[in-house]
Amino acid sequence: MGNCDGKCGHCGFAKRMCMFPEDGSKPEVCTTVNFAETLEKAAQEYQEPEMKKFAAAASRQERACYETIPGRPGVTIPLKPRIVEIMEFCEKMGYEHIGLAFCGGLHSEGMAVTAIFESNGFKVTSVMCKIGAKDKSWLGLTDEDKIVESGHETMCNPIGQAMVLNAAKTDFNVVLGLCVGHDSMFFKYAEAPTTVLVAKDRLLGHNPLAAVYAGNTYYRYLNKNK
Ligand code: SF4
Repeated sequence: MGNCDGKCGHCGFAKRMCMFPEDGSKPEVCTTVNFAETLEKAAQEYQEPEMKKFAAAASRQERACYETIPGRPGVTIPLKPRIVEIMEFCEKMGYEHIGLAFCGGLHSEGMAVTAIFESNGFKVTSVMCKIGAKDKSWLGLTDEDKIVESGHETMCNPIGQAMVLNAAKTDFNVVLGLCVGHDSMFFKYAEAPTTVLVAKDRLLGHNPLAAVYAGNTYYRYLNKNK
């Protein structure tokens, strides 16, 4: 990698230039500066009317998730869980039909989320990862590659999930707990815009940041420079 790579992950300034263009600080290698041409192309994309509407709705939704405190500029109170944020965003965009792509390991959560969306007036097409019922051997996997080492074990089918939701012509898709890699395939094949309600973390109760928050103690081993 050359020195022109994105460096935001190394930028430790409290008041960063990209947030405070007039008097913020930036490192010698700043992504905003080094990728100026690319960012100009990105800016053009927002001029496309549908994208402009989408981006504006997302920003308005972001604002609607905070309460400001009189006399304390810059200090905010978070107001809404992500599931509310999703439903409010759908309302802003006029989306009535939600596609829910969920993991079989979170089947009861998939049912609960379906019920919540439906009770709020949305049409829901829901699809679990195991649709199609194809055995993992179909991918060339052996018994050793299976979680339970013998017998039929249905493969996850994120392409199938995406195609079912494409066929149902959903307005907006919500991913609930798909595995790493399976989610990537879903994103690649889904035609409607997609958001994530739940990022699967089997160990940490679907809260992957718990390992990061404990990164100076129990999870120090993760950073090989510590
Ligand atoms: S764009 Fe520049 S100032 Fe902003 S976080 Fe990245 S490196 Fe830091």
